[in-house]
Amino acid sequence: MTKPAQQQFNAQALFEALQKSEERLRLAKQSAGLGVFDFDARHELVYWDERMCELWGGGTTQTVSYEAFLAAIHPDDRAARQAAIVQASDPAGNGEFKAEFRIINAKDSTERWIATAGKMHFEDGHATRLIGIAQEITEHKNLEKTLQEQRAESEAIFKQQVAARTASAIAHELNQPLAAISAYSEVALHALKDTNMQHEKLRRALEGCVTQAQRAGSSLHELLAFLHEGKLAVAPFELNTLVTDALNIAKTDGYKEFFPKLQLEKNMPAVLANRTQVQKVLVNLLRNAVEAMRSAGMPATEIAVTVQTNQQLNMAHVCVQDSGPGISPDTVKRIFEPFFTTKPTGIGMGLAISRALIESNGGQLWFEPNTLSSSGAAFHFTLPFAT
Ligand code: ADP
Repeated sequence: MTKPAQQQFNAQALFEALQKSEERLRLAKQSAGLGVFDFDARHELVYWDERMCELWGGGTTQTVSYEAFLAAIHPDDRAARQAAIVQASDPAGNGEFKAEFRIINAKDSTERWIATAGKMHFEDGHATRLIGIAQEITEHKNLEKTLQEQRAESEAIFKQQVAARTASAIAHELNQPLAAISAYSEVALHALKDTNMQHEKLRRALEGCVTQAQRAGSSLHELLAFLHEGKLAVAPFELNTLVTDALNIAKTDGYKEFFPKLQLEKNMPAVLANRTQVQKVLVNLLRNAVEAMRSAGMPATEIAVTVQTNQQLNMAHVCVQDSGPGISPDTVKRIFEPFFTTKPTGIGMGLAISRALIESNGGQLWFEPNTLSSSGAAFHFTLPFAT
């Protein structure tokens, strides 16, 4: 081949290669829905392709004034886009431009979300040209908005549930002392009306009020500390003494008609837990046992409380058993669920709170049918030893 012919052949091959590469680029742009723009900062002109024209609703022109280009941008998004331009125009920066904004199509007035990215070019330290791409992301933004709304809605529902549970837990803590205060106050009022006023009776009733009010206060304090901080003040204490205290509280709460049958292991090592919380659990279990027997119209009867070392687990093991109606297999599945109750005035938080308290003290709480008599329920819990 002669030299001019060779040159002509090379130019032809180059032209074809260029055409192919352009075609590939066009196809890639088309399938990604990309528009390309070239902003000439010195002349305030924007060169754009058909896709950009289509997005902006700008007819078929290949050039548009920067003013017209900006006019289509949603007024609320202009400042953020301008900030991105200023940042990209900083000669000390890397010239990268990225922004998301809405445009209002000049032809059909539809609003669309656009994501753009580009690179600023500099001459003599001045930003002169921004070349970039734009893509419509309206669908993505709408989806994001829907997800955000759904998230906000489920968060609101969750907050409501937490509020309802917290309120129920507080109600559960206050129910008993308030009922006792009301009963003591009635006794005090009677004593005052009595012409031969018995000072001793009045004093005992008022003392009862004070004790119950203090108990309500400390219960609330403990509960709130537990809910807020999750922190637990633990110290070693004797479980046997605690059982006696809990029985006394259950009795002053008006649960007089039961006879505790105690089996307390002698010289058992001290446990390490929060005393008030464990006491609360025991009072709860005793109260449930008495209520179960009463609801079944059973005469006053025994409640067995056993405290022993669980050798297998190397933990203290407490069991509260009653000889009430017991719990059916269907009901058992739900008794630890918050708000589950079979009592007309029950709140259904006692067992849920008790289990949470024992677990946060390092133990376990569970139910078993009573093994000592033909019917009844047995609630067990464990606690770690101090040593
Ligand atoms: P509440 O006492 O307010 O109902 P709890 O969480 O303490 O809430 O108890 C949930 C349910 O478990 C009770 O309503 C009752 O059906 C059942 N339950 C608890 N303890 C006993 C028990 N000793 N004997 C029979 N059923 C019981």
